[in-house]
Amino acid sequence: MDLSYPPEAEEFRKEIRAWLEENLPEGWGTPGYRMDGEERKRFNKEWSRKLYAGGWICASWPEEYGGKGLDTMQAVVLNEEFARAGAAMRADFFGDTLVGPTILQWGSEEQKQEFLPKILRGQISWCQGFSEPDAGSDLASLKTRAELDGDEWVINGQKVWTTQAKHADYVFLLARTDPDAPKHKGISYLLVPMKQPGIEVRPIEQIDGSAEFNEVFFDNARCPKENVVGGVNNGWSVAMTTLGFERGTSATTGHRRFQRELDTIIDAARKNGKASDPLVRQRLAHAWSKVKIMEVNGLRTLTAVLNKTKDRSTAALGATNKMFWSEYHRDVMELYIDIMGMDGQLLTGDINEEYALGMGRRARARHYPVSPLQASFFFSRSETIWGGAAEIQRNIVGERVLGLPKGP
Ligand SMILES: Cc1cc2nc3c(=O)[nH]c(=O)nc-3n(C[C@H](O)[C@H](O)[C@H](O)COP(=O)(O)OP(=O)(O)OC[C@H]3O[C@@H](n4cnc5c(N)ncnc54)[C@H](O)[C@@H]3O)c2cc1C
Repeated sequence: MDLSYPPEAEEFRKEIRAWLEENLPEGWGTPGYRMDGEERKRFNKEWSRKLYAGGWICASWPEEYGGKGLDTMQAVVLNEEFARAGAAMRADFFGDTLVGPTILQWGSEEQKQEFLPKILRGQISWCQGFSEPDAGSDLASLKTRAELDGDEWVINGQKVWTTQAKHADYVFLLARTDPDAPKHKGISYLLVPMKQPGIEVRPIEQIDGSAEFNEVFFDNARCPKENVVGGVNNGWSVAMTTLGFERGTSATTGHRRFQRELDTIIDAARKNGKASDPLVRQRLAHAWSKVKIMEVNGLRTLTAVLNKTKDRSTAALGATNKMFWSEYHRDVMELYIDIMGMDGQLLTGDINEEYALGMGRRARARHYPVSPLQASFFFSRSETIWGGAAEIQRNIVGERVLGLPKGP
């Protein structure tokens, strides 16, 4: 098996590495490197500007919409190098990773011209309005309605768990536009401005004082008639595209983040002597082998994408990816807390510092200053839920990949 990348890819890697070296602050990535809250704020702002100037934001988008038109191999190398350096590729997960690529695939030319450059420049931020109180895993049961009134859609209903809704300028939401059609058929995918009188956002405060997600109420909210993506009543197919991006984005590079985190956990075990406990060693070795599996499966997925292979094993890899990494991460963070013992309960974080939640999401604990690893422990509990619960991924593998009968 030849695991080396083609020479052009390695050339491109050098280019990115040099850019990162030149643009990241001195000492970045070295042990003990820290920024206080103010420095982090300044860095984040400056970093977005640098990324934009370097053309690295959404760099695989076509040049006509502001991207660099990178091919798959280049995009993978770009992701790998940023992951290796521990540098964020960008802040707005929902715009860059979910709705932007969905508009590229399904949007009209007008929608592409209107929204893509603004996403790329960070001028508009987004939230995802899919889940409702009675429609999570069974998303097609959603009840939020949209009715045409002249040139506008009028939206009524409620969404829940809407991350970042408080700050977002737009929501990409699913609404029922034909109540008489079978439930998967009468749904449309709408792009709706958030700052309007018909929308009320109620933050859901969590135990740590942060309120990352929200309830969102629509009471005769409006958006232009042309803000339907992929055609009226075709929203289910469009939503599946978005969910594909949500579940599959980290397939080839996700293992790097986990490897770095696992190294920190192993260091902690060495420091407090737990690394010589045979049961801890066994669990660490198990975790290490899972990260290796992710790496190898990432290479398999990449090979399949480059060769445009469409077979059952490729589909299975895609469907198992989200389930595999999220369950790995939940388990390894439990291991970390076990390794730390009582020390794991001491709050050693900085109240002013934002911490990364993975997938580009960041939060700040207002009343409960957790360390980055403690934050990772808490957030790992949600990773087997958002973007489609692990049980649902198993159903997808069972029914669509293995061809087993549908669950009752
Ligand atoms: C941190 C976080 C952020 C989120 N952000 C957003 C967001 O920005 N926008 C958005 O729209 N949504 C968001 N969500 C919601 C998320 O998509 C839903 O929580 C998820 O789809 C599960 O739906 P539910 O919570 O209604 O659980 P349910 O669907 O009620 O599931 C409850 C339990 O039953 C299991 N279950 C359900 N059906 C089956 C079945 N058929 N077979 C086997 N087991 C089953 C599930 O796996 C789960 O364990 C977020 C969730 C979290 C945790």
